[in-house]
Amino acid sequence: MEILKSAFVKEFIKLTNDGTRMGWHERNGGNLSYRIATEEAREIEGELSPGGEWKPIGRALPDLAGEFFLVTGTGKYFSNVILDPEDNITIAELDAEGRNYRQRWGLSRGGAPTSEFASHLVCHAAKKRESGGRSRVVYHAHPGNIIAMTFLLPLSDRVFTLELWRMISECSIVFPKGVGVTEWMVPGSEEMADATAREIAKFDAVIWPHHGMFATGATFDEAFGLMYTIEKAAEIWIKIKSTGMPILQSITVDNLKALEQAFHIRLTEGFLSGE
Ligand SMILES: [Zn+2]
Repeated sequence: MEILKSAFVKEFIKLTNDGTRMGWHERNGGNLSYRIATEEAREIEGELSPGGEWKPIGRALPDLAGEFFLVTGTGKYFSNVILDPEDNITIAELDAEGRNYRQRWGLSRGGAPTSEFASHLVCHAAKKRESGGRSRVVYHAHPGNIIAMTFLLPLSDRVFTLELWRMISECSIVFPKGVGVTEWMVPGSEEMADATAREIAKFDAVIWPHHGMFATGATFDEAFGLMYTIEKAAEIWIKIKSTGMPILQSITVDNLKALEQAFHIRLTEGFLSGE
């Protein structure tokens, strides 16, 4: 099957366009990767090149051995993906040990996967384990309101989660586990990848202070929807703070417990206590 006609490639391109329209991808900001299903990889096998040289990932990820990923290229702009997907995204294959990768398609005028490829792969490994193989999408964007929040709150998983859950009734239902928050670190560094992997094992979204967010999901809709829901809650939080007016009413801890019962969800233990 022609690669650009595959459903997962079309959905990948749609997400890069949707994210662009949200204003989350200034310049070459953000990156996206998809762990291609075995049957999808089989369908496009005939269109792949034999592959260039193997390049080190910088760590061993045996959980991802032999897997194929569709991923945005380093330095590439999300806004250009829809115009020329073949020059802006690539399919990379991992070797039998999950230590090296090689490109099998795309980046037609040269290039490499995103500089955050290692962060993406450690997220994929953690989420694949945690979800029993369900999770396939890792999405990194720069939404303005969640970044603004990281200047005003302590960088605590519990503090961010509670504030976000309280902004809109749907939040605790959409992300009952909550959100993780790392310390500020150098983008693309190994310690950043490790910190992200630790947090993403517990949550489906991780906030990088003064930078942006990672959201994961089984589908492109799930990952994008999660990014959108969290950013919408952050937008409301920033708007409330910006008025300078006292808050007269809000979603309380008891309200969150009522949502937990009504929607049969389990909110992360400990996040509702201690107030
Ligand atoms: Zn970024």
